[in-house]
Amino acid sequence: MKTKLLIIASFLLVITISLKTLALGDPFKNAREKMVKHDLKGRDINDKKVLSAMGKVKRHLFVEKSLWNVAYNDYPLSIDEGQTISQPYIVALMTQCLNLKPTDKVLEIGTGSGYQAAVLAELVDQVYSIEMREELAKEASLRLKELGYQNVKVKQGDGYFGWPSYAPFDAVIVTCATNQIPTPLTKQLKEGGRLIIPLGNTLFHQTLTLITKVKGELKVKQISGVRFVPMIGETEKK
Ligand code: SAH
Repeated sequence: MKTKLLIIASFLLVITISLKTLALGDPFKNAREKMVKHDLKGRDINDKKVLSAMGKVKRHLFVEKSLWNVAYNDYPLSIDEGQTISQPYIVALMTQCLNLKPTDKVLEIGTGSGYQAAVLAELVDQVYSIEMREELAKEASLRLKELGYQNVKVKQGDGYFGWPSYAPFDAVIVTCATNQIPTPLTKQLKEGGRLIIPLGNTLFHQTLTLITKVKGELKVKQISGVRFVPMIGETEKK
């Protein structure tokens, strides 16, 4: 009897130690699972692939260490140069609206930390992302490489003009606010392609807007109220 108890106790000890080691390798696994369950599934995010991508990408690795503890809370986080990563719900909502297929080629405007690009890279073959601010572009490109995302290409530049050499795209996601849809972006959208963009007054609130190209025409659907940092560059001259 004693030996049996001893065996069971050692077995339990081994399991506890292994679980602890696993948790150390991914200390925010529980926080991430909770985020997916409460803030995404608990609302209207029901695309299984999007939920799985959100459960995989380690948001804390895209922000500075002092923010790691709050990295899975449902609010935006500051990154360098006064910019922000959107709250997880908005990242998931925009991604879900794009209705992506694994073979899709996606263009993102506003790489920022690279978090949204990483979520997209979990879902599609090719992600192209443009960031206006040089330092952010460099940092995000390096971070994505270090994290093993080989299917994301980042460049510094004004996303207003899109990325003609890789166009046309199945989907375009704009993660900075503008009061108009940049024409080059809709031109670089494939037939049947989707574009999601926060549209409106860049100082206050915008409307998350989904554009679909159907037989060359742009169909517009308003999704929800949002607040994004402004798009800078060419769009300000218009
Ligand atoms: N998607 C990012 C967060 C975007 S914040 C993430 O997941 O972390 C918005 C970003 O858009 C900022 O980094 C800002 O520098 C960038 N931006 C603003 N105007 C731009 C433009 N014209 N072209 C490309 N990027 C732009």
